[in-house]
Amino acid sequence: MFEMAVTKKMLIGGHISTAGGIYLSPERAFNFSFRTFQIFSKNQMQWKAKPLSLEDVDKFRSEVQERKMKGIMVHASYLLNMATPDQELKAKVLDAFSEEIRRADLLGIDYLTFHPGSSTGTTEKNALKNIADNLNSLITKEQGCTILLETSAGQGKTVGHTFEQLAEIIDQVQIKEKVGICFDTCHVFAAGYDIKSRAGYGETMDKFSSALGLDKLKGFHLNDSKKGLNSRVDRHEQIGDGMLGIDGISNFIRDPRLSEKPMNLETPLGEGGYEKDLAVMNATLNED
Ligand SMILES: [Zn+2]
Ligand SMILES: [Zn+2]
Repeated sequence: MFEMAVTKKMLIGGHISTAGGIYLSPERAFNFSFRTFQIFSKNQMQWKAKPLSLEDVDKFRSEVQERKMKGIMVHASYLLNMATPDQELKAKVLDAFSEEIRRADLLGIDYLTFHPGSSTGTTEKNALKNIADNLNSLITKEQGCTILLETSAGQGKTVGHTFEQLAEIIDQVQIKEKVGICFDTCHVFAAGYDIKSRAGYGETMDKFSSALGLDKLKGFHLNDSKKGLNSRVDRHEQIGDGMLGIDGISNFIRDPRLSEKPMNLETPLGEGGYEKDLAVMNATLNED
């Protein structure tokens, strides 16, 4: 176990494998000195999921508790396009999404993050409305997890790449206390927000605050970006090796307003690269 300034100061985690059993993920995360983490609760490329056994659920919960980990995220399946105008697909998406909520609640997970979706076959306005309508038919006051819309890079016809689009979705959601935003640093940069410079970061946070309110900012995906500002390409890079660079990442890990918000690494090497990602962030903080 190594002590790190960055994991002490901020609630840093990473996407963690559930290979061999979902209950193994908290320890894997803890071994990186993470205080939080993200998982898929089922295969992210498949519609159907094997039911979680109660034994696995109990073990997962006690592993999390023992290590005092918090703000844990589940990333929903990539297949769920909540914006679809196709009624047959929509029924399938709703079914799978309600299963994602059920599994997150069983596991005692705080946040369920999903990609807002794509406007393929419809207009942007309708896509945003479809997402809100679907959230309204899924969200209940009783559910434990908060559902997070992930900021998108704006690749192809994906929606959710401007704070205004995300606000337009949330404005149409009825039970607002159960929705929030997961801010992906790679995506937001690729979508055209200059979070690399100190001034641009300040302006971006101000824009977020006026469109959505900082209380809706529940967590982060902490990624460098292979492509440049406004490239609209979703391609992650190891921390410090991309176009956002350590300067851009530093803006986030130095912001005291964000110290209690979970920040999960989703860099391309996965668990094979987190130690280096952490070391690069740590070195920056130690320069202070
Ligand atoms: Zn994502
Ligand atoms: Zn991405």
